[in-house]
Amino acid sequence: MKCPFCGKENTRVIDSRPSDDDSSIRRRRQCDGCMKRFTTYENVEVLPVVVIKKDQTREPYDRVKLREGIFRSCIKRPVSMEQQDNILDKIENTIFERESKEIPTVEIGEMVLEQLRDLDAVAYIRFASVYRDFADMEGFKREIEHLQNKNKKK
Ligand SMILES: [Zn+2]
Repeated sequence: MKCPFCGKENTRVIDSRPSDDDSSIRRRRQCDGCMKRFTTYENVEVLPVVVIKKDQTREPYDRVKLREGIFRSCIKRPVSMEQQDNILDKIENTIFERESKEIPTVEIGEMVLEQLRDLDAVAYIRFASVYRDFADMEGFKREIEHLQNKNKKK
């Protein structure tokens, strides 16, 4: 590592210890050229997940936002907060395990729908109408009929 004082490359680590919260390693270094000491920190790289919106713009994945979306769909429905949190956890596990750090919002929306479908039809339709904005009313109707048929079979 380059010395910040004289720019020489031959610096040595003279001390190395974890930071107070254990999230990084603090290293004391000394320059062999000017003998000055300086500190560096080594951190685990945490890559944020970025969502791709429909207009192709990107923004950081926002747990609170997704939480709200699910919550709004489940208002006055027999879906407990715990069930909603489970949905969120399942989806985040999938998102953060992916190789790619970019994920289209549509894909996240579909994951939520997949979970809501089995939980509550009304919450499902509410969420779908926001996230999937059905291009045509026919598609929307088909979706509702599909759900009604499914519920009849139960
Ligand atoms: Zn130096």
